[in-house]
Amino acid sequence: MQLNKEKIHKGDTIVIASHNQGKINEFKTLLSAYKLKIITSSDLGIEDIEESGRTFQENALIKVKSIPDDFIGISDDSGLCVSNLDDRPGIYSSRFQKECGGWFNAMKKIFDEVKRKKPFNSSARFLCSLSIKFKNKSIYSYEGEVKGRLVWPPKGDNGFGYDPFFVPDGSQKTFAEMVHCRKILIDHRSVALQKLITEHLTGN
Ligand code: IMP
Repeated sequence: MQLNKEKIHKGDTIVIASHNQGKINEFKTLLSAYKLKIITSSDLGIEDIEESGRTFQENALIKVKSIPDDFIGISDDSGLCVSNLDDRPGIYSSRFQKECGGWFNAMKKIFDEVKRKKPFNSSARFLCSLSIKFKNKSIYSYEGEVKGRLVWPPKGDNGFGYDPFFVPDGSQKTFAEMVHCRKILIDHRSVALQKLITEHLTGN
C-alpha cells in the first residue's frame, strides 16, 4: 500500500542545510517557482557539521538531522566520481580540494592521475543524495546522477567547484561554460530535486 507522503505547501519555510553558496543558489533557483521561504543553516546559526558518513546518503542524513524539527530541512551531499580512479574523490570531493589548496590544484591532480592510467578514459559522474526532513521527523532520500567526462584545461567562469573540467554527456561545453540556468536544469542536484518535487510539492 502506497502511503501519502508529507507535502510542502506554498509559504512554508525550508531550511537548506548547507554553507556552500553554489549549492544554495541552485536550490533557490530551482525552487523559486513554488513560493517558499528559503533560508539556510547559517541563518539559524548552525555551524558546518562533520560529514562522518561512508556514503553520500549517510552524509546527507547527518546534515538534514542538524535542522531543528520546527522547520522542514533539505540537505544534499554530492561529489565527483571518476571511473578510472575507483570513483574518487567521491564523498571526499570537498575535502580533497582543501587538501590540494584550491580547485585548480585539485582538478589538475585528478586529471594528471587519469592521464597516467592506460587506456585513457576520463569518464566521470556527479552524484547527489538529497534528504528532506519534515516537522514530524519523517525523512526521505532521493538520488541524482549526471554522467560525463573530464577535460583539460578547465574552461569557463560560471558554476562552482569541479564545474570547469566536467563536460556532461550530450554537450561540448563544461558545466562552467554553460549559463547558470542551463547547468542547473540538467545536473545531479536537479535530477534528485525533481524526484523530491514530484513526491512532495505536487498538489500544492
Ligand atoms: P559537500 O558540500 O560535502 O556535499 O561537497 C560537495 C563537493 O562536491 C563540493 O564542494 C564540490 O567539490 C563537489 N560538487 C558537488 N556538486 C558539484 C557541482 O555541481 N559542481 C561542481 N562541483 C560539485
